[in-house]
Amino acid sequence: CGIVAYIGQREAYPIVLKGLKRLEYRGYDSAGVAIINDGLKVYKKKDKVAALEEYASGKDMRSRIAIGHTRWATHGEPCDRNAHPHVSSDGKLAMVHNGIIENYVQLKQELESKGHVFQSDTDTEVLLHFIEEIKKSNNCPLEEALRIALKRVVGAYVIVLLDEEHPDTLIAARKGSPLVIGVGKDEHFLASDASPIIEYTKEVVYVNDYEIAIIKPDELILKNISNERQTPYIQKLDMDL
Ligand code: GLU
Repeated sequence: CGIVAYIGQREAYPIVLKGLKRLEYRGYDSAGVAIINDGLKVYKKKDKVAALEEYASGKDMRSRIAIGHTRWATHGEPCDRNAHPHVSSDGKLAMVHNGIIENYVQLKQELESKGHVFQSDTDTEVLLHFIEEIKKSNNCPLEEALRIALKRVVGAYVIVLLDEEHPDTLIAARKGSPLVIGVGKDEHFLASDASPIIEYTKEVVYVNDYEIAIIKPDELILKNISNERQTPYIQKLDMDL
């Protein structure tokens, strides 16, 4: 029910963890993060963000990129396995998602017939495998695979993707659920609302429906579903903590 992500020069995990705690008021049943530290690493736990924090404590969480999630289960019971982030079959992509993929049953059947095996009962994992399948069969960049996938997806979503092979890029998209991007100096913050971001920057971009954001530490590219560049509209937040 909440998403936080970071890419930049600082340690990403503490920023994302703190952001997830700020989103706790929205309600959730599990929490998780993905980082890139000697490959993609995912840590996720049922219950409070504090349970995730305890699980990750003592582990090497160093990373300049991280995606985090608090889940409000819609498809699949609340448990560690169904918590986000989810991971692609090749173990290279991780994704967090808020919302519902309404046509996931059909997509899942198609993917299972192509040999995909699922670790969770979520609609989210189906969308991630669908994106992965398109990326592999078209041999195209993740951004393009996402765009093709979203044309077939029915439902509401905010998603953020992380690719082990591109540790300098986050890719995000939204339809029907809010996504705010905080713009800093050589860093970007993503969140479901501005509350996890305001302590770091007051400059934010609200992503519009059907837009895809390609986010590097020093660059924010917005495109619509037809692959046309959109000018990010930077707003100044006047709220304080
Ligand atoms: N539909 C997804 C799930 O059940 C995401 C739920 C959410 O928005 O937290 O895992």
